[in-house]
Amino acid sequence: MNRYEVKDERGRARLVCSFGAAVAETGLPPEQIARPERRASFWRSTLDAGVLFTIIMTLILGTVIGAMHGWKVWGRLIPWTPVMFIGYGVPIGYIAARYGWRSAEEGRDALLEAGLCPHCVHGIAGVPPRSDGCTICPECAAAWRVEPPEPGAEQDQREAR
Ligand SMILES: [Zn+2]
Repeated sequence: MNRYEVKDERGRARLVCSFGAAVAETGLPPEQIARPERRASFWRSTLDAGVLFTIIMTLILGTVIGAMHGWKVWGRLIPWTPVMFIGYGVPIGYIAARYGWRSAEEGRDALLEAGLCPHCVHGIAGVPPRSDGCTICPECAAAWRVEPPEPGAEQDQREAR
């Protein structure tokens, strides 16, 4: 559904490991990998997916049934829209909240803060940075900027980006 892609510090496109896969592969407790606000929100994902699916399905069903039985089906489809919304939105919301990030950037930052390579979740906390300040993952060679955890500094960097 969602592809979480960011550019690493050397400009290469890298997929960010999903939250669910990061938990599964590292065996770390979920709270240790990311705070809930960095993860996809159930309600937001349900709303987005539910609305999209309902619109698409109403158009498809309206067109197909309309073509078979005449064009007066739109009104009959309206009562089904909540069913479509819930039937699709809720499962997607559940999956997103369990496995997803709020955004690719949030996922990258959360994994870096947890000391993991955002691409392959190899531990990179102890890897010394190169001369340009990039830390190169020994497993997948992705380049990241690992910031030393400093209270207050995080906000400034994010605004400078
Ligand atoms: Zn890596």
